[in-house]
Amino acid sequence: MALTNLISESHECIVMADVHTKAQRSYNMSRIRSRGNLTTETRLVRLLRKWHVTGWRRGVALCGRPDFVFPQARVAVFVDGCFWHNCQQCKFKPSSNVTYWKEKFARNRIRDESVKRTLRGRGWRVVRIWEHELRNRVRIEKRLRGLVQLLQKKGPWVSS
Ligand SMILES: [Zn+2]
Repeated sequence: MALTNLISESHECIVMADVHTKAQRSYNMSRIRSRGNLTTETRLVRLLRKWHVTGWRRGVALCGRPDFVFPQARVAVFVDGCFWHNCQQCKFKPSSNVTYWKEKFARNRIRDESVKRTLRGRGWRVVRIWEHELRNRVRIEKRLRGLVQLLQKKGPWVSS
C-alpha cells in the first residue's frame, strides 16, 4: 500500500489533542534519563531486527500515530509506556496531583480505546506491547512470535 493512502486514512481520525504540561515534561525527562536514553521504541526496533522482522515503517500518519506500521499486512503496533497508559500490572501511583493524573489516565485510556476501534473499523489489526513486556525476555519473545504469526496471515480481516 502506498504511503499516500495511509496518510489519507488518517484525516478522518479525531482524537483528543494532548498537550504536555510542565509537570508531565519534567516527569518525562526524568524517565528518559533513568532509562539511559534508550526508548521503548528503540528497544523494539532492535528486537525486530534481531528477529528479522521486516516490512515495518515508523512515523506513519495513521490514526493514533502507531509506533510501527506494517502497511502490507495491515498491522499497527503501539508500544505503550506503563506510566502514560496506566498499565494495570505496573500500577504507577503518582504521589502528587493525584486527581490530575487520575483524570489524565482516564483520558488516555479512552483515547487508546477510540484509536483501536477506529483502526479496527478500517480493517487494521492492532497490537499493543507494554513497556514492561520489553524488559522480560520470555514475555517479549512470546509477543513477537504472536506478531510474526499475525503478519503472515492473509486478509481480508473482519473488523470488530
Ligand atoms: Zn507495565
